[in-house]
Amino acid sequence: MPVRREGPEAENFAGARERMVATQLRPRGITDERVLEAMARVPRERFVPENQRRHAYDDRALSIGEGQTISQPYMVAIMLQCLRTRRDTTALEIGGGSGYQAAVLGELCDRVWAVEIVEPLAMRASELLAELGYDNVEIVVGDGSLGLPEHAPYDRIIVAAGAPEIPQPLVDQLADGGRLVAPIGSRFSQRLVIIERQGERTVHEDGIGCVFVPLVGEHGWGKAASNKH
Ligand code: SAH
Repeated sequence: MPVRREGPEAENFAGARERMVATQLRPRGITDERVLEAMARVPRERFVPENQRRHAYDDRALSIGEGQTISQPYMVAIMLQCLRTRRDTTALEIGGGSGYQAAVLGELCDRVWAVEIVEPLAMRASELLAELGYDNVEIVVGDGSLGLPEHAPYDRIIVAAGAPEIPQPLVDQLADGGRLVAPIGSRFSQRLVIIERQGERTVHEDGIGCVFVPLVGEHGWGKAASNKH
């Protein structure tokens, strides 16, 4: 179980977390109690830069440095709800960023691997998750558009960066009966796409519109992102 911060500041943040659940998540249709409870527990303020802590529970994405962002709480919640997590599942996240969503996944699943391509972000996330006691969550540096073959298949896969299409390696690494959620579209706007693998078939569902930073790498927008589309 994660270490809890103590003292008045921690209490303020705990209150802010409860308010986030009550005002940003429940009224917008987040009904998965496990997701709501997990997000009421994870100290989001620890995953944002020091000077942004007072904004940690704002209803928006925040900058985490290296040109990257921590997703809006609602977006984290809706994606995790679409994923239908269960305690006995393994999960793969592509785009670990600050490690926040990986921590929430760590509360919901048995084991979590998160791949992050920007090494300094991966290092920071990894240290923080260890400090908070998330020993079931591992951050791996690399191109997540290739998935993470060494621990495949995964019961749940979540892509936290926008891609032109679902990277085929991720579909290949999804377990039978598994679910995957990814923002798919142009570089500037996407829609969530949810797929469920049923044997050799995949069933697709369409989710809400969203805006994510681009998934780079071999099955993303490539290194020179502006060359495509
Ligand atoms: N889930 C994160 C937010 C992710 S923002 C959080 O909770 O903080 C998207 C992240 O995807 C960025 O950190 C970016 O560096 C990363 N990313 C982009 N392309 C990637 C790729 N091919 N492999 C792994 N990570 C990638």
